[in-house]
Amino acid sequence: MVVANYSVVQRQIPRVSVCTDKLQIEHLRGIALIVDVHSHIPTHEADVPPEDQASNSLIGTNVKLAGSLNEYVSAMETVDKALVFGLAPRPGSGEHPVIDWNAGWHESLNHNDIAARTAAANPEKFIPFMSLHPEQPDIDDEYDRAVGDLGCKGMKLALSYQAVDPMSDAAFRLFDRLQADGLPIVFHNGMSVAPDAVLRYAHPLAMDEVAIRFPNLKMILAHTGHPWYEDCMAVVRKHSNVWTDISGVPSRPWMAWRAMRVFHEFSATHKMLFGSDWTLWTPQKTMDGLRAIPRFAREHNLPPIPEDEIEAIINRNSLELLGLE
Ligand SMILES: [Zn+2]
Repeated sequence: MVVANYSVVQRQIPRVSVCTDKLQIEHLRGIALIVDVHSHIPTHEADVPPEDQASNSLIGTNVKLAGSLNEYVSAMETVDKALVFGLAPRPGSGEHPVIDWNAGWHESLNHNDIAARTAAANPEKFIPFMSLHPEQPDIDDEYDRAVGDLGCKGMKLALSYQAVDPMSDAAFRLFDRLQADGLPIVFHNGMSVAPDAVLRYAHPLAMDEVAIRFPNLKMILAHTGHPWYEDCMAVVRKHSNVWTDISGVPSRPWMAWRAMRVFHEFSATHKMLFGSDWTLWTPQKTMDGLRAIPRFAREHNLPPIPEDEIEAIINRNSLELLGLE
């Protein structure tokens, strides 16, 4: 389904006339940047062997779950900067949830080491984020190592996969430290194909109470809370420290139109950040999918989506918003 959508998209890329000159000038001045705020670590350091070329039909036909370091670097050629992260598994579990496996790296490396190694491929461009499990016994040591030794600049959590209540003491201890250190956090929000993922821990409304308790913690709610767009909008609109990323959303045209229209009607598209969710999708496919939304609206007699708001999402300097410059 995903591939079919994109093949349509690629034939229908609309000419972008709005804002293009302004954006080019902003790019030249370094004000506008294309920042991928949501990319996953490569599963393999070298080429992915055929037996590891996985796809998951629950996520989408031919969706890529594996990718090499070289594939990562070339997929990111279309962006100026990228945040890269893995996901900490549940303590005592060797299982890596869905896409955050690392079969093709030396077994001595964990997901934080791999994020740092990936970023080292182009330190000016790639920014490593750590991931921890709020209940892992060595959490403080690994936090210190990830920030101090590996240079991680933020955090990624997926509390539904990690089976941690965002209102728990363990989670709050971690948020407290991130807020004190001024490190931003990306939360997986929305659906999951893993049967044991606890969906309410990844619901945007659960993030509202975190944002209330931690008003200086910069938070990104991933995937526009897919499919809970209205709830996600309600949360990011009221908190100056909360944004959403649109990763994965453009792969489904009607859902993507809905998400954009909800944010547009509440004047909240300025809180939407660009992200790809690589390996699942590339930045280029995500841009193509975003730019196809206004045309999709016209062709289906749906209320319009302004092209300049789409371009603003793609060209948003998220690093500045997150305090990462
Ligand atoms: Zn992701």
